[in-house]
Amino acid sequence: MDGLSDPTLLINRSYLDGAFVGEPEVEVTDPATGEVVGRVPNLGADAATRAIEAAEAAFRPWAAKLAKERSAILRRWYELIVANKDDLALIMTREQGKPLAEAKGEIDYAASFVEFYAEEAKRVSGDTLPTHRADARILVLRQPAGVVAAITPWNFPAAMITRKCAPALAVGCTFVVKPAMETPLTALALARLADEAGIPKGVFSVVTGEDSSAIGKVFTTHPAVRVVSFTGSTEVGKILMAQAAAGVKRVALELGGNAPFIVFDDADLDAAVEGAMVSKYRNMGQTCVCANRIYVQSKVYDAFVEKLVTAVGKLKVGKGVDDGVTQGPLITPDAVEKVERHLKDAQGKGARVLVGGKRHALGGTFFEPTVVADVTQDMAVAREETFGPVAPIFRFEREDEVVEYANATEFGLAAYFYARDVGRIFRVAEALEYGMVGINSGLISTELAPFGGVKESGHGREGSQRGVDEFVDIKYLLVAGL
Ligand code: ADP
Repeated sequence: MDGLSDPTLLINRSYLDGAFVGEPEVEVTDPATGEVVGRVPNLGADAATRAIEAAEAAFRPWAAKLAKERSAILRRWYELIVANKDDLALIMTREQGKPLAEAKGEIDYAASFVEFYAEEAKRVSGDTLPTHRADARILVLRQPAGVVAAITPWNFPAAMITRKCAPALAVGCTFVVKPAMETPLTALALARLADEAGIPKGVFSVVTGEDSSAIGKVFTTHPAVRVVSFTGSTEVGKILMAQAAAGVKRVALELGGNAPFIVFDDADLDAAVEGAMVSKYRNMGQTCVCANRIYVQSKVYDAFVEKLVTAVGKLKVGKGVDDGVTQGPLITPDAVEKVERHLKDAQGKGARVLVGGKRHALGGTFFEPTVVADVTQDMAVAREETFGPVAPIFRFEREDEVVEYANATEFGLAAYFYARDVGRIFRVAEALEYGMVGINSGLISTELAPFGGVKESGHGREGSQRGVDEFVDIKYLLVAGL
């Protein structure tokens, strides 16, 4: 790959039990050009089993290390990720399509989890509780759960991995991940740096393979696996949860969203437009917390729409590696087809396209950033996650009405609203059935806050002190006869 300052970061093997293994077979392509940017092994159930068993063997010694020792190793990994940010971002942009500036932002975000949990490793403490017997004491330990198996998506090729593995490793768990096959190169570059940082063999492995259901089956059924952590579609999350049920494994799921973005008539409209732009068009609309439905109160509807259309007109579509580009290609032709289906459905039911609305002249999977007005609750965009650069704008009159619309979905990941009235801010924030609510902000992600959803958007939280909870077991000790 041209432009890498350290070409050894472009890895074409899986990373299993501390070794780079497998033959480079499956092509990884650049969605902006169709060019092959790398090849990775097509491993399956056997390799997944070997990786889990290596993680099982590595568990006791890793868990037995002092928290301070695990912390120091994670800190080294963090420093290496930051030092190699430009190369990691370039690899990401080439395989995923997002603009280079966004890829660099993601590397910072991914690294922040490693930094945070390197610190947090030293603070995973238990409790001493008031006793019920004079001759006994109650202690509560928090111990590492064991082997964690994770499956991650292509939209955040680095951060979705570190957000899971950093807390897992910090508390003493060992970790195996299968990254999305659209974006395995970022994962393998991270593995190369993990190796360099001194993470012991078997503690962190990356298994690449096209048969995700075979690998997923091993991850969810192998007796050594104690926690299954997944980020991806609700459909696949349900399959994994059902499979994991047989062994009563803990599952942490970050699934789809259908984020409402509400603009009340007392909002700061310029701030709301800015928030809508970042929430909607970041990563070409391909994040599970992207605004999927924009509800605007009647009195400010026309003014908001006009300002949004102007802002969208300034977006620059192109190859993510080119200067000034803010919108890359979508990940696959299927993604483009879903966007087109949603637009056709909306237009057929009376919505108006104000800007964009079709494939971009650049061809491939490039799509024009789009704004559609007069959208209503009976259209597909109201119910399904579009996962593309389309802003559908709904009109509403009353606060109770829009809260009802916002909650009328099986999803419950992120919601956003813009308002100034303090009573309204608390009423609406508490009434929204979502795991995360951005108030007067379109950007909520940070390693310092608990990220996660309710309803069919999943359960479990990633980030913050809460992020270690999935990976620790609570053990109660009654020490009697004192
Ligand atoms: P997305 O829409 O983000 O591609 P998916 O849920 O299809 O969502 O994919 C997320 C991750 O889940 C990817 O790593 C993919 O390979 C994996 N995956 C897809 N189907 C299965 C399955 N049946 N079992 C295990 N993993 C799967």
